[in-house]
Amino acid sequence: MAGLIDNFGRPLTYLRLAVTDRCNLRCQYCMPAHGIAIVDRKELLTFKEMYRIVRVLSELGVHKVRLTGGEPFVRKSFIEFLEMLSFNELLDEINITTNGALIGPYISKLEALNIKNINLSIDSLSKENFAKITRRDAFDEIFANLEALEKSTLNLKLNVVVQPEINTHEINDFVALTKTKNIAVRFIEEMPFNGAGLRKTKEVWNSTKILSTIKQRFPSLEKITTPKSSTSINYKLPNHTGTFGIIPAFTRTICNDCNRIRITSTGQFKNCLFDEGVFNVRDFIREGASNGDLKQLFLSIVSKKPANGFIAEANRTKNKRVSESMSTIGG
Ligand code: SAM
Ligand code: SF4
Repeated sequence: MAGLIDNFGRPLTYLRLAVTDRCNLRCQYCMPAHGIAIVDRKELLTFKEMYRIVRVLSELGVHKVRLTGGEPFVRKSFIEFLEMLSFNELLDEINITTNGALIGPYISKLEALNIKNINLSIDSLSKENFAKITRRDAFDEIFANLEALEKSTLNLKLNVVVQPEINTHEINDFVALTKTKNIAVRFIEEMPFNGAGLRKTKEVWNSTKILSTIKQRFPSLEKITTPKSSTSINYKLPNHTGTFGIIPAFTRTICNDCNRIRITSTGQFKNCLFDEGVFNVRDFIREGASNGDLKQLFLSIVSKKPANGFIAEANRTKNKRVSESMSTIGG
């Protein structure tokens, strides 16, 4: 059977799967202080359903999976699910995006399971600022876990959401971390995915502004080559161990080479981060769909993947302005 390919000839080989909508932090750019309206447990895909979806997609050419959320490590039996998934020989990479608060006890298990990349989200290197951003006091555990991950065999990437007036003064401190640490820091443009709409700020910090801020302090940065489908534009400084990059998530200059599809924790299939979900795979499975039915479904829905995130957003029928929490979407 042919693999997943959209009408623009883009092969879709990377799945982002949200394993839960729950989270133990309350990052201001992701959700309101009181959290989001989490769904009833029955509405979440079960791990068995997730395993089956991944298996079918891998038979259609998906060879990388990123597990995200919500916070993946708050879901009970997440490690057992990783174990199950690691038996899928069609997957080349299993990656995880996490806030890093609960990962500590599992690092050696993750190494044993050959998990490839851990993307740890940390938006400040100051305990006080971190607490303000996340509305929780978890900096010490997270930074200790960051250091343990850096020493492990896992590839460590740091996700830093650039938040005007909140952490832009720390951008260059994160770049400085790459001097001795074998990490890839990635600065992400803030998007209005916070469960409440766009935050009002005086300034817009897009990828151009982030780069020029770094260049002022580190003029000797050099661009490095990355795979076409990479979400970040990456750089290195001479004599630095690690690298850094910028993800133009909101300006959306990377859509042409997109190889990604998403499934939310309730089974909504998304062709693009900016669409509102195109089909509920959970309901289809619970109605008795066979693996053959699932394959036909996936082949047909990916053919409708929009050319870029602007078109996906314009095609939305319910909330024209994207304001869902990233925790629901699965970042
Ligand atoms: N809880 C995990 C974490 O924080 O890494 C995984 C889920 S989180 C939704 C995935 C990624 O989305 C994180 O790196 C987070 O910083 C990012 N994110 C969340 N809301 C965002 C927003 N409004 N704009 C840009 N990135 C956002
Ligand atoms: Fe939780 Fe991640 Fe959202 Fe922060 S960004 S509230 S850690 S899901």
